[in-house]
Amino acid sequence: MKLTSYWLDTSEPFWGGAKGPIEGTYDVAVIGGGLTGSSAALALAKKGARVIMLEAETIGHAASGRNGAMCNNGFAQDYGVMSDKLGRETANRLYRAFDAGVDMVERLVAEEGIDCSFARVGKIKLAAKPEHYDKLARGQELLAAHVDPDTHMVRREDLASEIGSERYYGGLVYRKSAAMHVGRFVRGLAEAAARRGVAIHERTPMTGLTAAPGGGHLVDTPKGRFTAKQVLLASGISQVGPLGWIRRRVVPVGAFLIVTEPLPVDVLDRLTPRRRNAVDTKNLVNYFRTTPDNRLLFGGRARFAVSNPASDAKSGEILRAALHDVYPELRNARIDYCWGGMVDMTRDRLPRAGERNGVYYSIGYSGHGTQMSTLMGTIMAEVMEGQAALNPWKDFAWPAIPGHFGKPWFLPLVGAYYRIKDRFR
Ligand SMILES: Cc1cc2nc3c(=O)[nH]c(=O)nc-3n(C[C@H](O)[C@H](O)[C@H](O)COP(=O)(O)OP(=O)(O)OC[C@H]3O[C@@H](n4cnc5c(N)ncnc54)[C@H](O)[C@@H]3O)c2cc1C
Repeated sequence: MKLTSYWLDTSEPFWGGAKGPIEGTYDVAVIGGGLTGSSAALALAKKGARVIMLEAETIGHAASGRNGAMCNNGFAQDYGVMSDKLGRETANRLYRAFDAGVDMVERLVAEEGIDCSFARVGKIKLAAKPEHYDKLARGQELLAAHVDPDTHMVRREDLASEIGSERYYGGLVYRKSAAMHVGRFVRGLAEAAARRGVAIHERTPMTGLTAAPGGGHLVDTPKGRFTAKQVLLASGISQVGPLGWIRRRVVPVGAFLIVTEPLPVDVLDRLTPRRRNAVDTKNLVNYFRTTPDNRLLFGGRARFAVSNPASDAKSGEILRAALHDVYPELRNARIDYCWGGMVDMTRDRLPRAGERNGVYYSIGYSGHGTQMSTLMGTIMAEVMEGQAALNPWKDFAWPAIPGHFGKPWFLPLVGAYYRIKDRFR
């Protein structure tokens, strides 16, 4: 079993990196080479800006190359709850932003010719308990009436057409959702940006950021100091560089995945006839989908812990048991990959994007970000040209999380709370 991301292991490494010292002046410095940074760098370069992108590790090394590669529309949370909390108009506007995120991924794949198996397979949210089905059905009624007619319910007695498992009590299908090979997508985006002249420096952290005397920003890196007229932080849970303001607002939460050996097509036809992205309704959620080479990917929060090789392996064992619970017939399937990543969680699980002291940022997708990060990278290129109104998250305040200074000491307590909730509700 490889303790590495299947997506990064099965895509060509990024080839277009810049070499040598860094100096001079750029129009924009993008900090972070994930989906937000790569899509922003591409959009800015298309506008004719002189762009530099710094990536502390390698392209897609963090969340963007380690996720479930589900490009789902809809909220991660219940639509009814979101409308009550935000008001229907705002909830619908944000819901449509997730639709636009999936559309944006599809558009960039086509425009840039990125071979990443993008397909609108749809997502099914599976009721883990009988009463969860009723809640999903109430939510779907509201969805269909107000914002997304491309949804429908599947009752337990009809569920075999969707999934070969006795574990669930029905589900809610979102037909606009898509799946992709995210390693090929994020590296393909960065290559498209490099082809348009973006200087992409891997293994180059931003280590300092100060105001330049004549306007703009001085950016420090181990390869030298340069000036940037504008800076975009696309740096996720960043543990490197002078980003304490962000770290006090984002909680890094580990999430983990396993991938089986390639499975016979007739087995997959039985287990997941429509190849949907599947997500269950538990607080400690499980999700699964197939890969382009017919493996089953199975993920979840497993434990509230950080990701590192020992932690990933421990979580992998929990996920293996959960996989067998859903699909007993995979008891003997070999697990070829097991890895983890850190989710950039905000308190209300909604992203934050905007500008502070002349520095732009888009961060905090809270585990629902393959589509939104790609959309926001592209939108931030417009926002940085003065089109602030295009930012769907512009009105959301972002206070620091009390008691949080970057290291999430409270995660085991949160995990225990959700485990108890899953047992009793
Ligand atoms: C395990 C897991 C599963 C997930 N599954 C899904 C899913 O199925 N569907 C979905 O929609 N979303 C999912 N997500 C969320 C999704 O992956 C993220 O929302 C998205 O990738 C965020 O992209 P990003 O570019 O903002 O951040 P990141 O991918 O985290 O990129 C930030 C980059 O900034 C770099 N960086 C940080 N500090 C510095 C610095 N000082 N200088 C230079 N570079 C720096 C980092 O090295 C990193 O590469 C998942 C996330 C995880 C962790």
